Amino acid sequence: MPQTLVLNATYEPLGVVSDRRALILVLNQRAQCVEESETVLHYAGGSVTLPSVVRLNKFVRIPYRHAVPLSRRAIFARDGGKCVYCLAPAASIDHVMPRSRGGAHAWENVVSACHKCNHQKADRTLKEIGWKLPVVPREPVGAAWRILGTGRSDVRWLSYLAPYGVDQAQAASA
Ligand SMILES: [Zn+2]
Repeated sequence: MPQTLVLNATYEPLGVVSDRRALILVLNQRAQCVEESETVLHYAGGSVTLPSVVRLNKFVRIPYRHAVPLSRRAIFARDGGKCVYCLAPAASIDHVMPRSRGGAHAWENVVSACHKCNHQKADRTLKEIGWKLPVVPREPVGAAWRILGTGRSDVRWLSYLAPYGVDQAQAASA
């Protein structure tokens, strides 16, 4: 089902709803369409283009920040779709401190890797193999990441997600 990105009045991404739901928000004057989709809905007496991005007319306070779920897709997205060790296309998830050595399955201990590096590193630590991480792995923050995790990356959404830390390469690899 086609979906619509919902922005706060401040343009901060809030989430994703069905395009029908987004249309109702617009018709009830609770939101404005800022980007149209290609989908035209026909009804008796007229037609309307369904929105791809809407912006709420009133600012909504976000009570708390949800954690970003740890998934293969989200890890690849955070690391730009590349192996952090050799920059080849990512094909697997590496636990920096191997799980067999007590390493956690957590944002701070997982990175995107190619099969070759993952296989070569095996059960060794970075110190043992003499490799270094280019950046310390962290949990990504913000709604933009949760939206990316839905697996839908409409090009029309990118300019709205970009100010919140999601760039084109990250969206493309999600
Ligand atoms: Zn590699």
